[in-house]
Amino acid sequence: MRALSVGLLMTVLVGLCANPQAPVYRVIIDPGHGGEDTGAIGLYGIIEKELVLQIAHLIAIQAVSFPAMRVILTRTEDRHISREERLKIAQMGDLFISLHADFSYDARVRGMRAQIATGAGASSEKLAELLLQHSTQAAKALNLGVARAPLWLRRMKIPAVQLYLGYLTNPEEARKLSQISYQTTLAKAILAAVQAFLATDAQR
Ligand SMILES: [Zn+2]
Repeated sequence: MRALSVGLLMTVLVGLCANPQAPVYRVIIDPGHGGEDTGAIGLYGIIEKELVLQIAHLIAIQAVSFPAMRVILTRTEDRHISREERLKIAQMGDLFISLHADFSYDARVRGMRAQIATGAGASSEKLAELLLQHSTQAAKALNLGVARAPLWLRRMKIPAVQLYLGYLTNPEEARKLSQISYQTTLAKAILAAVQAFLATDAQR
């Protein structure tokens, strides 16, 4: 995980600065957990907080190819941030995607799923559906669908989705999630989903 550090972050920063005058859609990517909050601990020593941070960095790097988007990360390192901080950063954005991975005591359980807040609007639902469609197709993973839950995301005024990128307790998914090629596939799929969302539902 450490391999993706200063060099790649510099690439992101250079990319973000490349075209400051162009109109941009601000995509907030929120790597869940951080610091003492590790999130799920999975097979092969995978730690959720590290995995989602790595995928968030890959999204920021890949976003250089999408000039209409500016990706903003809620955290760029392994540190704890409060929901208040995450909300504050979300206020700078046009949409919000929180990245997570799943845990189950049953190793057979696998697939990707999304959650939106109870009472969230149709735009959050559309974004969640597109994220799952693109991610599961690209990753050849099972689509477990979108569920509504009483999430803290209800405080967001922008389309907001909690995206679960697979089960760290399923041997096959955990093995794939540990590979940078698979992580990059997911990063690209998430950006493609956002692009599709902008094409269909930019007006929230
Ligand atoms: Zn999580």
